[in-house]
Formats: sequence, C-alpha cells, structure tokens
Amino acid sequence: MYIDILEFVQNENELIFQKSGSCNIDNFDSQIELLDEVRYNLLISKVDSELILNIDLDYSYACPCDRCLTRVENDQSFSYSAKVINSSDFNEEEESEDEDLVFVDSYKLDICNLVRELVILSIPTKNLCEDSCQGICPQCGKNLNEGTCNCNKDNTDIRFSVLKDFKFDEEV
Ligand SMILES: [Zn+2]
Ligand SMILES: [Zn+2]
Repeated sequence: MYIDILEFVQNENELIFQKSGSCNIDNFDSQIELLDEVRYNLLISKVDSELILNIDLDYSYACPCDRCLTRVENDQSFSYSAKVINSSDFNEEEESEDEDLVFVDSYKLDICNLVRELVILSIPTKNLCEDSCQGICPQCGKNLNEGTCNCNKDNTDIRFSVLKDFKFDEEV
C-alpha cells in the first residue's frame, strides 16, 4: 500500500502529515508469528525544507521461549524516525551517513514495506516465558518449570558421568 505525499509536499501551508493504519505482514521468520496486523501511526513533518518521518508501531507476536520452547506471546512497541528522500533527488554526497533515510518514488511511500522492515528490526532477539524460566533438562528433555527430573538431583556433568562408576583400585 502506498501513501501519496506529493500533495502534502507541494502545499506550502501544510507542515505536518499524519496517518494511522495497519499492515498485514507476511511471515519473515519460521519461529515468529505475528498475531495481528501491525498498527502504525505515521507523522511526516517539514523541517527546514527536509521531510522528517516519525513512525510508531504496535504489534503482538508469538514465538517459542528461548529456554523451554513453550509458546510466548508478547506485545512490542517501536518508534523510528528518518529523513524522507525522493529517489530522483537523492545525492549521496549530500547525506550524512549516520542519518536513517527512507526512500520514496514520486513521493509515494510504500508504507507496509517500511513497516515490515521495522518489525524485523525491532523484534526482540531474547524471548522468555518468564525471566525465571528454568528451561529444559539437557539430559532428559523435561520442562523444568513443570517440576524437577531425576537427572536434576545429581549434579554430575553428563561429560563425566562415565567416570562416576569407575572404581579406583584401592589395593595399589
Ligand atoms: Zn520458558
Ligand atoms: Zn532430566
């Protein structure tokens, strides 16, 4: 979906363009499921002959807990700002490298493509069902949030378990 800002850009009396909406984002990661459309609130302001974009995102997603693999559902909010550049006006030398740029063609902003990129950028890389998640037992695979397992009582490192039964010859 494109948002046409040409009229806004050409209208000298208008300094702020505002639009809210939502985008249906395709799966971008096999582990992450977006639970609903991603809601956005877009604001474009004219600041010293430049166009500055501010966008706020809100979305809900589900993914497996990093430690125990139980399904986790989370809400995420994200704010982003960048300078809007019309592709035909782009001059690499004029732009400072530490500034984010959002490109538009003929002043048409591909809003859902931008939203998609920002979801990928903002999705948390750490997801736990609870901060205190005990994870799963590396030996028997039991979810330790549901109780302890038998291997858990013995703290012997699995790599040394073969030595546990090794009898030293006390006669020597
Ligand atoms: Zn967990
Ligand atoms: Zn176990």
